[in-house]
Amino acid sequence: MKLFGWGKYPVIQVEESYFESIEQLKSKLSIPGDYIVHGMGRSYGDSALNRRVIFSSKFNKILNFDPINGVVICESGMTISELIEVFLPRGWFLSVTPGTKFITVGGAIASDVHGKNHHKAGCFSEFVRSFDLMLSNGEIVHCTRENNSELFRATCGGMGLTGIILTVKLKLQQIQSSFIRETLISCKNLEEIFNLFEEHSLVTYSVAWIDCLAKGKNLGRSILMLGEHEDSGKLNHSFKQKWMVPFDLPHICLNRYSVSLFNHFYYNLTPKYIREHLVRIDNFFYPLDKIAHWNRLYGHRGFTQYQLVLSKESSFEGLKKILQMIGASGLGSFLAVLKLFGTQNDNYLSFPKKGYTLALDFKIHPKLFSFLRELDRVVLDHEGRLYLAKDVRMAREVFIKGYPKYEKFEELREMMEMKMKFNSLQSKRLGV
Ligand SMILES: Cc1cc2nc3c(=O)[nH]c(=O)nc-3n(C[C@H](O)[C@H](O)[C@H](O)COP(=O)(O)OP(=O)(O)OC[C@H]3O[C@@H](n4cnc5c(N)ncnc54)[C@H](O)[C@@H]3O)c2cc1C
Repeated sequence: MKLFGWGKYPVIQVEESYFESIEQLKSKLSIPGDYIVHGMGRSYGDSALNRRVIFSSKFNKILNFDPINGVVICESGMTISELIEVFLPRGWFLSVTPGTKFITVGGAIASDVHGKNHHKAGCFSEFVRSFDLMLSNGEIVHCTRENNSELFRATCGGMGLTGIILTVKLKLQQIQSSFIRETLISCKNLEEIFNLFEEHSLVTYSVAWIDCLAKGKNLGRSILMLGEHEDSGKLNHSFKQKWMVPFDLPHICLNRYSVSLFNHFYYNLTPKYIREHLVRIDNFFYPLDKIAHWNRLYGHRGFTQYQLVLSKESSFEGLKKILQMIGASGLGSFLAVLKLFGTQNDNYLSFPKKGYTLALDFKIHPKLFSFLRELDRVVLDHEGRLYLAKDVRMAREVFIKGYPKYEKFEELREMMEMKMKFNSLQSKRLGV
């Protein structure tokens, strides 16, 4: 079959297989060759691609729930969306959730995903009590922060390169309502949005849409969205995908003029200040999930998301420079997001570190990769790094400078013979 990540680039021919039980998986791994496990394929690039791919989607049962402490034990192919269906009506929600719910629990751990509350709560792995991991020889190891802690730290954020995550014990957070109290504030420029992020750093959720093509005095103009869980009310949940992009749009549709026009209207039509209106959890956390196949908007060549984080001290200067370069190139898209990260954890390859992160989409274009290499230099000059879950073209040099614990990760891979069994196109490109 043909397979691709969310960015629809690259598209490769793969041999696919599934497993429903541990025995099935063990016998698959005993066949010589290397594999990568594939969850919902919501990573943008090539981290879940290899010539042989094992899908986790049939390994997706809930095994246990402790209603006093909100601790669920489930199989790693379970999606966040399925967890929400079951637990939101009972008053429980994910402690950390990314901007789509169509991801698996295994994928969330492997990318150690972050949400709009990283500055307060940290990454997904902070709420993972334990997991079982199948190693390259079929052995199953129970990993917690205390036992097999090296494997725990390497697997959270380890992009499927340490083994296959099987069952997971996950702590949910209690909620009283399926609504979020949201405040929207529009900001004229980068300085204003930075000041507002800092001013509201005690608010649980914060994220900003940023106009990546604005220039001059408008550079960095954005809309800050703040949110808190509503503390009483109903706990009902219903979700429908309202729209669908039926086919790949002609790639010419998204260009600097259409994106600038969209950004202009989006910024100017959003009221300057909306205080604490109620929005459904799905609308607050997963606005894009409403549009099925929205990745077709970028055309048949596909797209990539470039997500960087810069150290807190140099975030302002670095982002200013990066936004100037993007504005001058005219290559950015309307999906550009700015977030404040809190302290980094001690996993070897987790992406977040204290500072600001910018994520933005670029459609694949002949000039794109040389432009992104210029951005890479600015990112490294500002003590930054790129997110592996979004990446499709990073060079090894950029990876090793951005992730100083890469040696520990590579040593472990070598020592436990993981390199023989678990590889992705990304790990081969990065030489991990
Ligand atoms: C619209 C959208 C919004 C997003 N927003 C955010 C965000 O806000 N924050 C954020 O951090 N990320 C975000 N992401 C990225 C996404 O959360 C991650 O890429 C996540 O890992 C995808 O999970 P998946 O199940 O689709 O995994 P896949 O994309 O299939 O795989 C991702 C990686 O996980 C590994 N993996 C999957 N299952 C297992 C397993 N059982 N055992 C071991 N390894 C495994 C794969 O090998 C691969 O390396 C977003 C993506 C989209 C499309």
